[in-house]
Amino acid sequence: MAYDPNNIFARILRGEIPCKKIAEDEHTLAFHDINPMAPVHALVIPKGAYISFDDFSDNASEAEIAALIRMVGKVARDLGCAEAGYRILSNIGQNGHQEVPHLHIHVFGGASLGRMINKVTA
Ligand code: 5GP
Repeated sequence: MAYDPNNIFARILRGEIPCKKIAEDEHTLAFHDINPMAPVHALVIPKGAYISFDDFSDNASEAEIAALIRMVGKVARDLGCAEAGYRILSNIGQNGHQEVPHLHIHVFGGASLGRMINKVTA
């Protein structure tokens, strides 16, 4: 599947659509989700054109991978989630119900989040 340069996060990265920015570095951008599912709901994205975690892990540089991981931790700390705990999640592809085809890591916190996901069967 080819990367769609007109997806909403690509447009946010180009500054065509605003976002509530939390933090940014050379390789990553973190911002608040427009439709928060928890008191804290942030999104961390690479600036590069990666669709999924498998795409990113296969094709991103060491620096990009390190930056994304570090930014997730920074966002959790900066938004006050580190002590009480939080959840990170990335929806990938059709089974994962990924809506935006640019890799993003959700960071949820600010309240008890329940346990894992609902159990599913094939
Ligand atoms: P997915 O299902 O792909 O993991 O989730 C995509 C997320 O992006 C959703 O939580 C949705 O609320 C968020 N989102 C979609 N469009 C926008 C937008 O224009 N701005 C921001 N900040 N978040 C968005």
